[in-house]
Amino acid sequence: LLQLTKKLIEIRQVLLSIDQSDALKLPSIVVIGSQSSGKSSVLEAIVGHEFLPKGDNMVTRRPIELTLVHTPHDGSTTAPPEYGVFPSLGAQKVTSFPAIQRTLTELNQSVPASIAVSSDPIYLRIHSPHVPDLTLVDLPGYIQISSMDQPEELKEKISALCDRYIQEPNIILAVCAADVDLANSAALRASRRVDPLGSRTIGVVTKMDLVSAEVGAGILKGNRYPLHLGYVGVVCKAPTGLGSGRIRRGGESPNLTGAVLRREKEFFGNAENARWFYPSSSERSLSRSSSSLIMSPADDMAGKVMVGTDTLRKRLMVVLETSMAANLSGITNAVQLELEEASYQFKVQYNDRRITPEAYVAETVDALKVRFKEFTCQFTKPQVRSKLKAMLDDKVMDILEQLYWADQRAAELSRLGEDKRLQPDDLDNYWKYKLDTASSLLTKSGVGRDSTQLVAEGLRGLIDSLATGEPFTFHPEVADRIIQFSRAILRERLGLTADQVENCIKPYKYEVEVDEREWEIGRQQSEEAFNLEIARCEGKLADIKKKVGGTRKLSSLVSFVHDIEKRDAERTRRRFGSFGGAAQEDPVEKTEEESPLPDSYKYSPAQVADGKYSLASLCRLAALFSDRLAILKARHKALQSKRCRMGPEQKAFCPEAFLSVVAEKLAYTSTMFINIELLEQFFYQFPREIDSRILYDLDRNEIAKFARENPVVKRHLDLQDRKDKLEQVMMSLQSLANMRQEKEPRSTRS
Ligand code: GDP
Repeated sequence: LLQLTKKLIEIRQVLLSIDQSDALKLPSIVVIGSQSSGKSSVLEAIVGHEFLPKGDNMVTRRPIELTLVHTPHDGSTTAPPEYGVFPSLGAQKVTSFPAIQRTLTELNQSVPASIAVSSDPIYLRIHSPHVPDLTLVDLPGYIQISSMDQPEELKEKISALCDRYIQEPNIILAVCAADVDLANSAALRASRRVDPLGSRTIGVVTKMDLVSAEVGAGILKGNRYPLHLGYVGVVCKAPTGLGSGRIRRGGESPNLTGAVLRREKEFFGNAENARWFYPSSSERSLSRSSSSLIMSPADDMAGKVMVGTDTLRKRLMVVLETSMAANLSGITNAVQLELEEASYQFKVQYNDRRITPEAYVAETVDALKVRFKEFTCQFTKPQVRSKLKAMLDDKVMDILEQLYWADQRAAELSRLGEDKRLQPDDLDNYWKYKLDTASSLLTKSGVGRDSTQLVAEGLRGLIDSLATGEPFTFHPEVADRIIQFSRAILRERLGLTADQVENCIKPYKYEVEVDEREWEIGRQQSEEAFNLEIARCEGKLADIKKKVGGTRKLSSLVSFVHDIEKRDAERTRRRFGSFGGAAQEDPVEKTEEESPLPDSYKYSPAQVADGKYSLASLCRLAALFSDRLAILKARHKALQSKRCRMGPEQKAFCPEAFLSVVAEKLAYTSTMFINIELLEQFFYQFPREIDSRILYDLDRNEIAKFARENPVVKRHLDLQDRKDKLEQVMMSLQSLANMRQEKEPRSTRS
């Protein structure tokens, strides 16, 4: 029958893990008593080890919910190991009792002294072949006299905390010291309030050695304060050196059981005392009388005398088992109700659809791969090529600006182009060199590096958007992992790809052959690019115009700036030109020529200080843009000209078209190798990394944690878990009920 407690203790663990309501609480033995009544000594005698926090000021600040799990010998020569587990600190086994004591002390002291007592319990499980299956709760001791450092509130706080625990269906272990009048026992007073008949209260009278055997036996008879479950007298003062108020560091605490039993045997069994404690019968009849309690929990123990820690243990087992049995149907009903509610909710909310964290991880990974695949469509060769071409077009514009538009002779090239008699070979070498320079500026501008970077950046952006999108908003750690490993792949491929691309475009650094078709495409694309550039320039000018106040004003301002520039150039030539050396500057001349804006262009200060540009710098900008616009238009005309349409041999006349063709060839070649060296590799590797770094790399706990990071999944899993656990509990309860039904008739027969 003792299996019942063990099974129900297991059930209790399951119920605890799903945050049970009070209705689901299985009975536990609650230990109450005044400070120094010997409460700790009794608990430690039951466990057989010193493990409770010791100290001068109040040491138990939180309830300690202690579960004792009996681990039976499996028949081998070595006994099963004894260890403790603190479920709130993980499943780790604490194998030494001094270590358990230290942890309990720390957990206790985590309650600040200002709060003194907390109702937040410490859970501790002790597995041992020497303990019975029991659940016990150690509570702070009642304080008798409030002193300076133990204010009145504290007394009430402790009282209130104990009151919560001594409610039904718990069994109350009221600890009283033999040398203190029972009338003064705070424990008995409290238990009488909730259990007037003492039907679930066991009295434990400690320090029996401090009173005469006659007086002791008198107390145990319980005539003054009768308890149905009776009193047990014990002597469990720890041997000197133990329990003396200090935590002993290191070393194993010796097993207390032997020492306590010896002392009790000496005390209760000596010739002088035995007649008081074992009046007529032997110990055996005592234990038989307690085993009769199994069937009748309300058996009146008043008048009978029970002594010894061993008796107490057996008594507790019997009483707990009996109480468990009595509560079985109530608990079963409560669990059944909870289960029905959970099942109903599960049906309504999730249509009985079951999920597992593993499946969620797998689904998430699959979805990620699908989205990745969709995204990779943005990286087809034509798309990559057009991105690269755009980047190279920008480079071409920069080169043109640097080499042609800023050149004083730029206008000359357009004029020459109109001269129909002029053959390409007749063109001034100046222009031929210029074209070679432009071409090599472009081909040697670091195309390998830049184009690889550009595509890699695109990939980085793609991964970032995957990793920051749903559902990874819930999974920042995994999102970070994705970003990290994708960056790592890119880093690994980057240098290699850049070198490879650079190598493959190498021939273009020496010569670029262009055929008619390529030429025409290049010419047209360049024309388009010029159209855009012209529009951009015009836009800028229009902006300035708006700021300055109209076209007329602007054009006269621009010509004014031009005038100044011309005069400056003239002056410089006069000063340095003929000698080629530094002439002395003439301050007088400068002041004379320092020409402020003419009166008609006077503006209010507000207009002048428009934005970050002064009027003067606006004018200079405007002059710049209108100069550029003139060249752009001239070049645009050149691109449309007959000569330019004639073909690639005209390239020195139309450097724009030529450079556009070069850019196209560079883009084409780069794309080809970026595709092989970077994209293909990345697209192959990324999904595999997802598998190995997420799907296979997470352990069970990490998978569970990952799934629960998503609140929707968490709710689903929590309800499902609750339902499962309740079902499991229900099954255990039912099988227990069946077992009892089978057993009962047989035991009555015997
Ligand atoms: P608690 O404050 O109620 O937990 O009491 P303790 O277990 O710490 O015991 C208080 C004091 O009483 C300690 O000094 C113990 O050594 C002593 N004590 C406990 N049990 C006995 C006993 O059976 N006989 C004697 N003489 N002293 C005891």
